[in-house]
Amino acid sequence: MSTKRKRSRKKQKVYTVHWPILMGFTALLVALVLLAVGVIRACALPEGDAFSAGETPEPIIAAPTRSPIPVDIDFTKVHKTHVKVFFPDEGEVRDMLLEEYLMGVVSGEMPASYSLEAVKAQAVAARTYTLYSIQHGGCKTNPNADICTSSSCCQTYNSEKREHDKWGDSYPYYHSVIAKAVMDTAGEVMLYNGKVIDAMYHGASGGWTEDSENVYSNAIPYLRSVESAHEIGSRQIGEVSFGREEFVSRVNGARPNAHMDADKLEEELKILSLYPSGRVEKLQLNQDVITGKTARKIFGLNSAMFTVEITDRQVIFHTKGFGHGVGMSQAGANGMGADGADYRTILLHYYTGVTIGVIGQY
Ligand SMILES: [Zn+2]
Repeated sequence: MSTKRKRSRKKQKVYTVHWPILMGFTALLVALVLLAVGVIRACALPEGDAFSAGETPEPIIAAPTRSPIPVDIDFTKVHKTHVKVFFPDEGEVRDMLLEEYLMGVVSGEMPASYSLEAVKAQAVAARTYTLYSIQHGGCKTNPNADICTSSSCCQTYNSEKREHDKWGDSYPYYHSVIAKAVMDTAGEVMLYNGKVIDAMYHGASGGWTEDSENVYSNAIPYLRSVESAHEIGSRQIGEVSFGREEFVSRVNGARPNAHMDADKLEEELKILSLYPSGRVEKLQLNQDVITGKTARKIFGLNSAMFTVEITDRQVIFHTKGFGHGVGMSQAGANGMGADGADYRTILLHYYTGVTIGVIGQY
């Protein structure tokens, strides 16, 4: 009896001492689970697409889940052009049908939340860019490939897994937008004098696109500066700031001949000239003069369309647009699409004097 009582007392004691701890532990566990669910949900929120070579904006748009657009995704029903695609992460070259490859490219290069006609324009631009690459020596990283999935070398490519991760519940809808854009324009490419063009594009123009020779060495007749009046997309304006000393050490590190002095920035730092588009042509850094394009690299600016503000403590660059500014502005294409333009009108606006042909028929 005495043992039983003792055991029972002991049991009682165990419960009274440990219940609060147990409850506290349970509460902590529940909180952790809720936190984890929150994090997972936040990660799965649909957003805009990745951008390549720092030239395409990435809007965070939590679009509602919509029903997929009906589209027949049968690549064998269209032309049979193949493309050898190098995937650097996997270290392999895959032989793909062109339109199948373009599904991943369009999804990687433009937010699927943009207007459908803009996404179609992107599909034609990416297809044209791919054929141009094939005709001009292929991928520079891998001689066995026509093109690769590295944004810094060729064009971004989104795998289906990445699309699922990015779009979450909205995957069926956004995937159908991409498929519709690719299949509705299947085989279509831009031509100038009967030849496939170098279809450059960028995220946002800041109001005017740029003449090719102001960014690259050649004046290309179809890559002319045009107005891009209505742009819809994120990252249209940006700001990069440096402390005065920080700015000077960055300049003198990159441009040893500049010899800048943090106390004399008001005299030493000047925008000397602008292109008609509004992008900076020349920027004075005391004893050195650089182009707006070089300034983009040194200071990590979104665009060469910028103004400089000098305060007591800081140097602040205010930028408009995103990317090099040559060819089609994606935000401008989105704006044109929202205003009712179709993809052909968008392309003919941004690529001067081109025609649209179909693979195998030009
Ligand atoms: Zn490449």
